[in-house]
Amino acid sequence: MVTMNIHALKQDTICALATPPGTSAIAVIRISGPGSFPICNKVFKQGKNAFNCNIANTHTLNLGEIYENEIILDEVLVSVFKNPKSYTGEDAIEISCHGSPYIVQQILELLIKNGGRLADPGEFTLRAFMNGKFDLSQAEAVADLIASHSKSSHDLALNQMRGTFSNQIKELRKRLVNFASLIELELDFSEEDVEFADRTELKSLLSTLRKEISRLLESFSYGQVIKKGIPVAIVGKPNVGKSTLLNAILNEDRAIVSEIPGTTRDTVEDVISLKGLSFRFIDTAGLRASTDKIENIGIERTYEKIDQAKIILYVFDVNEMKCNEVETVLDEFKEHIQSLPNGLSKDKKFILIANKTDELIESPDDFRHLVEMDCIFISAKRKENINLILDVLSDYIEKESINDNAIVSNARHYEALSKSLEAVHNIEKGFIDNIPSDLIAIDIRQALHHLGEITGEITNDEILGNIFSKFCIGK
Ligand code: GDP
Repeated sequence: MVTMNIHALKQDTICALATPPGTSAIAVIRISGPGSFPICNKVFKQGKNAFNCNIANTHTLNLGEIYENEIILDEVLVSVFKNPKSYTGEDAIEISCHGSPYIVQQILELLIKNGGRLADPGEFTLRAFMNGKFDLSQAEAVADLIASHSKSSHDLALNQMRGTFSNQIKELRKRLVNFASLIELELDFSEEDVEFADRTELKSLLSTLRKEISRLLESFSYGQVIKKGIPVAIVGKPNVGKSTLLNAILNEDRAIVSEIPGTTRDTVEDVISLKGLSFRFIDTAGLRASTDKIENIGIERTYEKIDQAKIILYVFDVNEMKCNEVETVLDEFKEHIQSLPNGLSKDKKFILIANKTDELIESPDDFRHLVEMDCIFISAKRKENINLILDVLSDYIEKESINDNAIVSNARHYEALSKSLEAVHNIEKGFIDNIPSDLIAIDIRQALHHLGEITGEITNDEILGNIFSKFCIGK
């Protein structure tokens, strides 16, 4: 983990490649810190009509020539940002050079030779946070935004980056701070038995806090699903066509399709995006009683995956299983899931899939009963009716408006909110039990502390190091 010396941050000047490494049309190198302009002036050719950071206006794009030992290295475009009007809040430069790894390497070496330092992961965003450009939760959203892979995960990250979640937390915290100071004041006058903080108002605030924090905590499972993709497990006996179905869905041959039962021993995962939502598909080992040790490990893993899945596609071979058997097997299967850690939670959805309809000579014995069970009839091999499965998948989540609601998608925020809620419960209980104000004040401070951790009003080097070391270099 990077240990950030916050006080040293403002002193030096950092640089890094902000675009992906490798050959590209152009590459962007970022520089930030008090030395940005002097360092660049040393690296760029100077003279009449030449680009000079001190003369250039902020937010302008300028043509410049980078020289190394009197020989031109590249002709580049330079964006100039003068503090405080930059991403980091410091003097900053972005050099758009030709995207050759050699040029990038040479420019970075020149910048370092002239006083720059290679940035740590996330250090630009850390500086932006330290300079008050945004709070911690917004900074974390920058990383989520870069990693977003679907419209909904993008909306969620953008919403957080623009402060919807932070503002709500800050507002709740601000109201509690007011009461905290009044209670603390009462403690100063403890001899005189005065009450500055209106207890009715405080109780009403606590009730609001409890409801709001609980709502945010509840949104976490939705937030996670949006951020990481909805986990979907494809299950069924060996050889019913699970791998073929997965391939049909992904439209490419990734999992091994084989005629020997039980060959998909390990798990394979793939992601598709449907109507702005991501789905993570888990192909699993077939479910059947087996004496084969390796296969049993596969089955065990299958159940672990099934436990995490929100959607279960239960596949059977329509030519092999009679309708009443399907029901029995499905009931047994659900019973087994019930015994797993997550159990049969109400957001877990089962989709029954009858495969190999292309081999069907006559309609199944109790066709109507299967229809009543919302069974989907497909031929994975011929890619028939796969769209019906996709339709059911994309209807899984009622598309709440992400734009208007603060949604928690970050595990760190979830933890801090849980601790805040615990503190709020303690304060409320304290009032009911009539415990002295000085003890209640401790719980109020706890609640303030944990709410403040989310936005970074309360933080330390370890928390910052932990968050920013997960960023990419150049961000
Ligand atoms: P898994 O063990 O459940 O993953 O089954 P596979 O996907 O490996 O398929 C087992 C066998 O069934 C392979 O020979 C597939 O070609 C075949 N199969 C899969 N889907 C269909 C289908 O819709 N129709 C027919 N006729 N065969 C299929």
